[in-house]
Amino acid sequence: MVDFIGIERVQALVAQRGPARFIAELAREIQDDFCRWDEFEKSPRHATHSKVGVIELMPACDGRLYAFKYVNGHPKNTGVGLLTVTAFGVLSDVDTGYPLLLSELTLTTALRTAATSALAAQHMARPGSRSLALIGNGAQSEFQVIAFHHMLGIREVRLFDVDPRATDKLVRNLERLALPHLRVVRATSAAAAVAGADIVTTVTADKRNAVILTPEMIEPGMHINAVGGDCPGKTELHRAILERPDVRVIVEFEPQSRIEGEIQQMPAEFRVTELADVLRGRASGRGAAGEVTVFDSVGFALEDFSSLRYLMRIHQEERGERTQVDLVPDLEDPKDLFSLLAPRAVAAGVAA
Ligand code: NAD
Repeated sequence: MVDFIGIERVQALVAQRGPARFIAELAREIQDDFCRWDEFEKSPRHATHSKVGVIELMPACDGRLYAFKYVNGHPKNTGVGLLTVTAFGVLSDVDTGYPLLLSELTLTTALRTAATSALAAQHMARPGSRSLALIGNGAQSEFQVIAFHHMLGIREVRLFDVDPRATDKLVRNLERLALPHLRVVRATSAAAAVAGADIVTTVTADKRNAVILTPEMIEPGMHINAVGGDCPGKTELHRAILERPDVRVIVEFEPQSRIEGEIQQMPAEFRVTELADVLRGRASGRGAAGEVTVFDSVGFALEDFSSLRYLMRIHQEERGERTQVDLVPDLEDPKDLFSLLAPRAVAAGVAA
């Protein structure tokens, strides 16, 4: 039998801790795994593109555990009442190859993306950053606000989305959450949201080279958390932002980010630093206070590996029913797989 974590179980696990603590705990797991970066077998994800979206497989392995995530990205889905991003994943034991856990990862992707964004920002944003501009107010947005409020002490969020109903929804959810001392401001444009912000998160969905941020919007010392550009031909930043002499770009896994990140716009010699080196203290996330820092996030398999292991642990520790699914046969004689079919096959007759 294989442990199963569905949407309901994740809802319960998040409710037991509260989303802020869940995200902060997950960020610590992700940090710990990035700090043992060299122990992991890593590869860019396998992406299957269509005209309207992408389906991706994301594996990671540390020699003891193996994980993969299935994830899609279909920006037009919301127009027909479906999510842009859905995901599920598997955690397996390397010694036997047996799956240990089958889990939903749609909610978990939003939680881990927010955790990774805030973790990177802790090392890259100016100390004392208090305001966050959030461009793109869809499915990921609440998670980003909770993470930055809790992990960085953000006290003002400025919201903008081309779809005002998305911002209505985000404002409603933030009112319900009532995060302490958080001021919520609706902006009339991306430029208005960004003006004077310490940190800017772009988390829009559009399958093209969009220009959400232009050079004149960028102020000295800003930290940009670019989350939405995560596929070939799908970016959010004007190239000239990356060409600034005072810009520092941190990526998750360079070989994947060269294909999928904002830096796909840049030549191969464009210098970037990997997040693992910042978290291990081998590189710094920020130099001078006036430097512009960019976390060019695309989402890396290691974050999902950490998430699946964390989910498995709290699933086993916490109260509540532990569901298992019969994904793998349990046999007295492992060479007698046919025994699972034999009684019925014999009763039905082989040719029936
Ligand atoms: P979503 O469709 O729910 O929300 C996206 C929002 O962006 C929508 O409300 C849309 O109206 C808005 N938008 C589109 N173009 C805009 C523009 N020009 N200006 C302002 N707003 C605009 O999608 P989501 O689940 O929130 O995901 C957002 C993006 O983040 C997707 O592209 C997804 O692939 C990406 N993503 C990245 C990671 C990562 O790890 N880097 C993880 C999850 C999702």
